[in-house]
Amino acid sequence: MNRIADVEGGLLPQPKGPFSDGEALELLMAYRKDPSDVPCPRCGPNTIEVLAFIEPEIDSNGFASVTDPEGEYAAALYCHTCKRAIGILAGAMYGE
Ligand SMILES: [Zn+2]
Repeated sequence: MNRIADVEGGLLPQPKGPFSDGEALELLMAYRKDPSDVPCPRCGPNTIEVLAFIEPEIDSNGFASVTDPEGEYAAALYCHTCKRAIGILAGAMYGE
């Protein structure tokens, strides 16, 4: 699963750590069900914010490019309570 190394030059909150693979799956399922209502597996509802839509492939320097939420893309999610961030593959690429 992609990690968000840096988005928009560090203007976003600094994550405190990653989500586990199981939590990532929960987030992905919730996002695909309703992108506006994604609960944090640890903290519950109303804590997750979609920070940005990013390219599903991180470049060789470890940076993710911001993109539009269409076709193949990933959503950068951030929980304001446990301060963790994750990039989930939210576009057409999922399931390959
Ligand atoms: Zn949380």
